[in-house]
Amino acid sequence: KREEVPASVHGINPELVDYRAAEVVATLKQAGFEAYIVGGAVRDLLLGLRPKDFDVATNATPEQVKGLFRRAFIIGKRFRIVHVVHGRGREHEVIEVSTFRAYLDNAAAGQVAGNEKTSKAQLSGMQHAVDASGRVLRDNVWGPQDEDATRRDFTVNAMYYDPVSQIVVDYHKGLQDAKKKTLRMIGDPATRYREDPVRIIRAVRFAAKLSPLGFSIDAKSAAPLVQSQALLAEVPQSRMFDEMLKLLQTGHAIATIEQLKKLGMSKGIYPLLDVAVERADTPFVKAALVDTDRRVNEGKPVAPSFLLACVLWEDVRNGWQARLNQRQHPLPALQEAIDEVFDKRIGDVSGRGKLAADMREIWVMQPRFEKRVGNTPFGMVMQPRFRAGFDFMRLRADVGEVEEALAEWWQDFQTADDERRDDLMDQAK
Ligand code: ATP
Ligand code: MG
Repeated sequence: KREEVPASVHGINPELVDYRAAEVVATLKQAGFEAYIVGGAVRDLLLGLRPKDFDVATNATPEQVKGLFRRAFIIGKRFRIVHVVHGRGREHEVIEVSTFRAYLDNAAAGQVAGNEKTSKAQLSGMQHAVDASGRVLRDNVWGPQDEDATRRDFTVNAMYYDPVSQIVVDYHKGLQDAKKKTLRMIGDPATRYREDPVRIIRAVRFAAKLSPLGFSIDAKSAAPLVQSQALLAEVPQSRMFDEMLKLLQTGHAIATIEQLKKLGMSKGIYPLLDVAVERADTPFVKAALVDTDRRVNEGKPVAPSFLLACVLWEDVRNGWQARLNQRQHPLPALQEAIDEVFDKRIGDVSGRGKLAADMREIWVMQPRFEKRVGNTPFGMVMQPRFRAGFDFMRLRADVGEVEEALAEWWQDFQTADDERRDDLMDQAK
């Protein structure tokens, strides 16, 4: 049932709405289409949070959307959307505009995939991609707004906000759930997890993100989570990797790990995540997670290579130590230990050459911090990855793995002028 909720009831502060998103909606409406801010942004607005990005949903097709904006790009194949770009350079903002999708359960989707002729006739709203897989077809079948709402995951993620009229459109009692601080899956939870197992991870992510506000997953939505976990094996590894990073790098890493434990999912989502959870209470990994959350919440960038280098450092260090004990030279011993860790975890970082290279650099820099002679320190600070290597060493100092004085020396050295650097070099002798 469609409910239209006025501003006096939902209480969204219009000042939290990005003007560029509001403009995109206004332009679509002026052209005669339906358009709304949708999904996570509406959820965050209702909770009084400033959304980090704004998605727009409309009944205009991607081509129609593209035609209305000067800089708009149709992207995606599995899920075609339009990126409307506002402004240039640092100030630029991308608003994602998606066309209302039909809700197809697995049977209907199978039909779409299996029978091209009927599907072409049936799905007249769909104008492309008939050559592609069933999945592609299925995710690009346009439909009415109520179906678009039903195919979404949680009730609080399935509301629409019109910034012009300030009305919230709600089909699944999302507003009520937001008030009750409940994350409730639309439809039958077990079925929805089967349809797209990534929703299992999304449940954990939203539970973590919203836990400081007192949210929790509704009992019926939480119950099938553990038994559904096995379905994650079907999800492509690259998508799993991205989802894992979203769990750890969107400012709620510590809360995520708490949720995983609470929900009985400490193991089995993704191998590298298992390691992170296992080590979350060791001083070093804990410090890395706390630091990551702090940085994200301060709006600073975080690199996946840094966090993963922290998570796997224990293995590198053990392998390195074992080789040193066998009287190998320190640098080749470290390189070998790193190779071994990558071999063991190859599935996790394969196809991510840059990520692995950055991790290696961070690790290889560590023994070099101890070498404060000749030109070594001058060369070190010139390296593009110096900052990451230093931050890593700084964390090691925080947990007592290296001398605090060494971290402070490097802190000084990197910002010092030439004269001060010469002084520091003398001190280090
Ligand atoms: P965040 O604040 O983390 O961006 P979000 O709710 O905006 O959270 P997105 O991944 O940006 O999450 O997705 C936008 C919206 O698309 C969601 O709010 C939800 O309505 C819908 N959605 C995304 N992924 C799924 C999914 N796997 N199944 C069903 N609906 C989904
Ligand atoms: Mg979003």
